[in-house]
Amino acid sequence: MSPLPPRPKRVVLLGATGSIGESALRVIAAHPGRLELVAVAAHRRLDSLAGIARRFPSVRHVGLFDGPAADAAASSGLFPAGIRLHRGSEGLIALATLPEADLVLLAVVGTAGFEPALAALQAGKDLALASKEVIVLGGKFVMAAARASKGRLLPVDSEHNALFQCLEGRTPSTVARIVLTASGGAFRDWPVERLSDVTPADALKHPNWAMGPKITVDSATLANKGLEMIEAQCLFGLHADQCQAVLHPQSIVHSLVEFTDGVMLAQLCPPSMTFPIQHALLYPDRAKGVEAPLGLDQLLQLDFRPVDETRFPLLRLAKACMQAGGAAPAVYNAANEVAVAAFLDHRLSFLDISRVVERTLDACRPAEAGDLAAVRAIDREARRVATAALSQR
Ligand code: MG
Repeated sequence: MSPLPPRPKRVVLLGATGSIGESALRVIAAHPGRLELVAVAAHRRLDSLAGIARRFPSVRHVGLFDGPAADAAASSGLFPAGIRLHRGSEGLIALATLPEADLVLLAVVGTAGFEPALAALQAGKDLALASKEVIVLGGKFVMAAARASKGRLLPVDSEHNALFQCLEGRTPSTVARIVLTASGGAFRDWPVERLSDVTPADALKHPNWAMGPKITVDSATLANKGLEMIEAQCLFGLHADQCQAVLHPQSIVHSLVEFTDGVMLAQLCPPSMTFPIQHALLYPDRAKGVEAPLGLDQLLQLDFRPVDETRFPLLRLAKACMQAGGAAPAVYNAANEVAVAAFLDHRLSFLDISRVVERTLDACRPAEAGDLAAVRAIDREARRVATAALSQR
């Protein structure tokens, strides 16, 4: 057993009230000698955030991204005395760079975590990254900040955490390819002709994982796998043709690496985010998990089959963006966010999500971003084009 660290790692949790946040709080509560929660932030769920601050007396700072929610928090009397309230994106950056923090777990939905991620690395913090959109939007800036930082970039997304574990200590030139597993989402077994009638309620029934609405729809379209392929290419410095996806309905093998000699390594654990979150929070240490490991005394079936790209055009489009490089992944991400929001709002059909993304990619071909302002400008322009495409069907 490795010795306990001299003091607990001090953790900032951005995105505390979502499903990743909930799993992270379970892990932190289970390891009081190793992890100490010092700050939490949420988008706008004031009551949940206040509940977390009361459950974890070590929390000294809270943040609310939404202005009206932050106003309500200031006068609510919900937070214990002595807690400092931060607001907006400046508030997230202040929390990501708190002098006393060792590690920032970023689990903010969408791209709002981009600037806090960069700020955390620039401040020398370890960054446990669960927000894949941050890499898709501006991966080259995040990777440059990670290279210059004394902090470490630790992937939390289950596939990337699996790849990180399989690749650790390996020579990059010995890696032939990586294979990301995909559960196939809610419609993997539906006949293609029924997909035109899919409702938001259908899309929100994920077979294996309990997650927020955006990522659950992305799992059903396989846009989530597309975003993850883009993220993996960037995180691990690979060529587009070294990144593949395979359907694996049980979500037990979280990803595989194939080396140049044909040997594969895989990472297996139950389909719960507490496993990759704990790995990232305690890294490089390990400790007893908060959930039972896989039981090999029962029948454990592991099936793999190829992904049907005609059923999942958003995976094909993601691969095209990886080949194109430059700003194409950022356009893909922005268009997908606009289309999924419209679908959840009953303004767009399920099959039209990929059509809006494809139309936006065709219409919007910006040059690669040279700085952070250009990254945000590309994101805004792609959202404008995608919003216009919603009404062109
Ligand atoms: Mg994933």
